[in-house]
Amino acid sequence: MRILVTGGCGFIGSALVLHLVQDLGHEVATLDALTYAANPVSLQPLADDPRHRLIEADICDAEAVEAAFAAFQPQAVMHLAAESHVDRSITGPGAFIRTNVVGTQVMLDAARRHYEGLGADKASFRFLHVSTDEVYGSLPPDAFFTEASRYDPRSPYSASKAASDHLARAWAETYGLPVLVTNCSNNYGPRHFPEKLIPLMILNALEGKPLPVYGDGLNERDWIHVEDHARGLVAVLERGRIGETYLLGGRAVRNNLAVVEALCAAFDRLRPEGAPHARLITFVADRPGHDRRYAIDPSKAEAELGWRPTKVFEEALEETVRWYLANEAWWRPIREGRYTGERLGLQKAS
Ligand code: NAD
Repeated sequence: MRILVTGGCGFIGSALVLHLVQDLGHEVATLDALTYAANPVSLQPLADDPRHRLIEADICDAEAVEAAFAAFQPQAVMHLAAESHVDRSITGPGAFIRTNVVGTQVMLDAARRHYEGLGADKASFRFLHVSTDEVYGSLPPDAFFTEASRYDPRSPYSASKAASDHLARAWAETYGLPVLVTNCSNNYGPRHFPEKLIPLMILNALEGKPLPVYGDGLNERDWIHVEDHARGLVAVLERGRIGETYLLGGRAVRNNLAVVEALCAAFDRLRPEGAPHARLITFVADRPGHDRRYAIDPSKAEAELGWRPTKVFEEALEETVRWYLANEAWWRPIREGRYTGERLGLQKAS
């Protein structure tokens, strides 16, 4: 299959593209604007692979997006390109509205024109819109999101993703575009840009720097390994019912403090000379509007698609630490260049 993947130089996109090409043998075009969050090094293993090409383009640039569809003639689209960091959305929401909302509309319009011109491939064409559980807002203790949960986004990031979900469904209803939507929980694993909780803590621990935990550290997230997510996206693309939404989660709800403590325990085993790493934990001012709990009930995806998350959180977390220890060439230029670990998103939106 020829699959157009947007945002394929990012964290989840690169795991997905590697899986699609290397494990499944698909032909992939990665369309990516190479923003600060991209790391094209992540796709280095495909540098000489004729099944992969990189198209450097902005999803808001309608002409460039049309040209990509015309040149590649995709049989499916997996749309991941987005501004993805909540803290940055608090400081500068404009980029989130532009890419996540306007960019998604440009992608949907281009996909629609492409779809209408398809011949034999029309029946199997799909547009998979990749989204987040954050669109559902904050849960009370012990509750879980399902596909029937009410939208209640509370940050500029989640509001922009919620808007993009609505656009995707509107293009399905109004224009008959065969759309699928996924909403996934927090991902972790290799090639994760070190502004997010887990890779930031790993690099700080490695350098003996403080491990900043927001607020009381008891905000809960449902952690899924990025490779489980990538397999879930493929399962939805292959076997999901058109027009449906599927929630993907790792069945691993942990509070932030427990995650950081698990990382410290992994570091104590891997780097005993720095133990106990938990001495580096520092509580800092909370994120404005910090949602208390996200947790996914992935029963629908499990029952309908035969997919389930396979990784055990604490084991895969230690594997992730090992990956960062072994892949300094991947993160060192980022850490010394475009993001050095400073606190983001304390300001209210301007
Ligand atoms: P990321 O920030 O690591 O990567 C985003 C990628 O999109 C980058 O390569 C970037 O260059 C590209 N991009 C950004 N703006 C673009 C534009 N205007 N045009 C073209 N490309 C652009 O993000 P991620 O964590 O890999 O997330 C991927 C998708 O999955 C996003 O849609 C996000 O909302 C969703 N998601 C993420 C998580 C998570 O835990 N990271 C969880 C659920 C859903």
